[in-house]
This record gives sequence, structure tokens and C-alpha cells, in this order.
Amino acid sequence: MAAQKRAHMLRVFQQPPEAGTPPPPPRPTEPPEATTPLPSPPHTPVQPEVAPLSASPPRTPAPTEAVSQPQYSEVPSTSTRAARGNITSAEIRSMWATYKVRDQLGTAEQCIQFAEENGLVLRSTLCSTHRTPMPIYSKGNSDLGSFCCRMGQCRTKSSVRRAKGTWFENAKLSLPHIFYLKYCYSRRFTQFNVQLEDYFGGPCLSSRTITDWCSYRREAVVIYQIDKQEHVGKIGGPGKIVQIDESKFGKRKFNKGRIVEGHWVLGMIEDGSEYLRLEVCPENVRFAEVLIPLIQKHVIEGTIIRTDYWKAYDCLSSYGYEHQKVNHSDPENPFVAPDGTHTQRIESQWRVVKSFFHKDNFNNPANFADLVVEFLWRKSILKNREHPFTKLIDAIKRTYKQK
Ligand SMILES: [Zn+2]
Repeated sequence: MAAQKRAHMLRVFQQPPEAGTPPPPPRPTEPPEATTPLPSPPHTPVQPEVAPLSASPPRTPAPTEAVSQPQYSEVPSTSTRAARGNITSAEIRSMWATYKVRDQLGTAEQCIQFAEENGLVLRSTLCSTHRTPMPIYSKGNSDLGSFCCRMGQCRTKSSVRRAKGTWFENAKLSLPHIFYLKYCYSRRFTQFNVQLEDYFGGPCLSSRTITDWCSYRREAVVIYQIDKQEHVGKIGGPGKIVQIDESKFGKRKFNKGRIVEGHWVLGMIEDGSEYLRLEVCPENVRFAEVLIPLIQKHVIEGTIIRTDYWKAYDCLSSYGYEHQKVNHSDPENPFVAPDGTHTQRIESQWRVVKSFFHKDNFNNPANFADLVVEFLWRKSILKNREHPFTKLIDAIKRTYKQK
């Protein structure tokens, strides 16, 4: 399931280019900061700006059946105390922190219990021949064990590893170390901090191991986030305004003869809501042939779309949208058109998005699209005052649904 979703996602991000597409003409209104490198960040993990609420380590078992109908919310409820920022000391103390991960997920037994309670692995499964529950045989300390039927000859034939088809399949690290790395990823620890805070002792985790596990976790997040977006559906609608703009991420870099020019990203945000959609432009161009299908994917027909004068948008009205433009070259007012049209909200998003990428290599074409989706996932967590570790467990549970 996950692999199919992943393949679909890659197709979305890597559509073939239009044949004979002309090179883009120079654009007079290009924002100057689009190709400016960002300042170096301090060498500390990124902390959520607001204290998360729904972060307490789960105490009650969460059966797998309960995850069949995802409850996605993109907009936080303003009625909760959390949304107003009123979080009590007791609530903060109930949230996940490094020492709690060490204390509560520090042994294989604790990790297995947690994985079972959170629907990451099955507690039991039926023998396909006898239709009876198969007991678990555990081989090693950090192994999830295998299900094996005890009936007659079945004992040898029926054995199935409990990790098969779960997020833990092919894991080489111990379970406590896996959960530690999950926590570090959720908190966006730097590699240095992952090594520094590692409470297992022994040799430091290698950069390669940390990077690989980071990508692995991101995959679950990306699939989860795209599912969630599909569930929420398109933004806008008749009478509603969606501001649209594109921005380039990454700077021109001459490295070992390679020229990396960054990535064009299309941004769409609905006025009066937090509905932000980002798409990496396939083949790294921003012609109408690329932008219009992306807009149609996310914005309901009939929506009022506000853009700048980039010519690729000129055909929007022939696709059923009401198109309003602001001329950034207007000497009278480059920000707001005489009719009040502006795109300042989407433009202000670029600074936020780019600051998120300050320590990631956004010139890396391999995972840039994933990073953009990860940004949207983290933005939603921050808005909802949730804890990233809890949400990561949730994303893995949904992506690797156990039946
Ligand atoms: Zn059997």
C-alpha cells in the first residue's frame, strides 16, 4: 500500500515536460530574496513555537480498528484552551520529552508494548489454515518475534515475522534506538544533537544511519500528509479568494562542475483560512502547462484567483476561474492594485517556508518534494498545538495500517 502511494506521489511530482516548451522569459517582478541564501541557523534543535498539548504518552491501548476512519483537521479549533495558548504546567509535564522517551521507551519490552498499544504492530493474528490465534515466539531481545501456529504440522509452515509489513520490517537497529531516532526526527534534532543526546552510549550513530532513518520516517509523513490533503479536498470555491504565487528555493551553486538552480515551488493560500498548498513544479519550470494542472489539482473551479502579472496565469479565466492581478511593476503601488487585489499573504508565506529549510539541503533534487510536504505536516502540527512525536506515531500507524 505504502509503496503504491509512494509511486503515485513520485508521478505527481515528476510529470514529463511538455515537448518543445520554450525557455521562460525574464520576469521583472522576481522577488529578490528568492535566490538569496538564508543565514546560518543556531546549532540547536528547532523547538515548536508554542507548547504542544496532545502529547501525553498514551496510557490506554489504541486498538487498530480505531484507525479505519482518519479524523483529519487542517484548521485548529479556536474554542480549545490550547488554541488560546493556555496550557497548564501539569499538561506541559505530561508531554513527551527526551528523558521520557528514555524512561518509557528505553527497553525492548517497553517499545513492544507501546507499538502494540498504538497499533504499530499486531497483538495477534489468525492461522490461515486453522483460523485460530497464533502465539508469538520471540527470538531476541529487540525482536518483535514471530506468529506461529501450534497445530500439528502447521508449526513450521505458518511462522510469520511480526515485523513483516510493518514500519519495523528490515530494521537493523534495536527497538529502543529506533524509537529514540523517531523522537529526534519529530523534534528536528540536528545530527550533532542526535549523537549528543543518544542515551544508549557506545559508538556514536553514524551520519549515514541518521540520514537513512530520517528519510524513512519522512516517507511515512509524506504519504500521511498527501492522504490528508486528499481527504480535505480542494481549497477555494465560488466567491472565495485564493492567492497564488511561485518562488524559487535554493541558490545557483557551482559545485564540481554541476549547476544546481534550485526548485520552483507553487504556493496557494485561501483568504481567511490556513489552507496552504505547496507543489514543487515538475521539471522545475513555471509555464502555464505546468502551473495550470497544479492549480486545478488544488483549487475549486469558480474561485477568485489573485496573482501577479506572470504571463503563465493569463489563461486562468479560460479554465473557469475568476482572475484578478496585481502589477508588481506599477510605480504608483507595486503591492496593491487599484481594485484592492494583492498577493501579500502568499508572498509572506515564502519567508516562513524558506526558514524551515535553512538547515536542509534544498538544492538536493532527490528529496526536495518530500521536504516541502514535510513542511506542511509540521505547519499543521504547530497550528494545532500538537506534539510532533505523537503525530509521527500517528502518521506511521496510518501509513502502515495493520489488519
Ligand atoms: Zn495452523
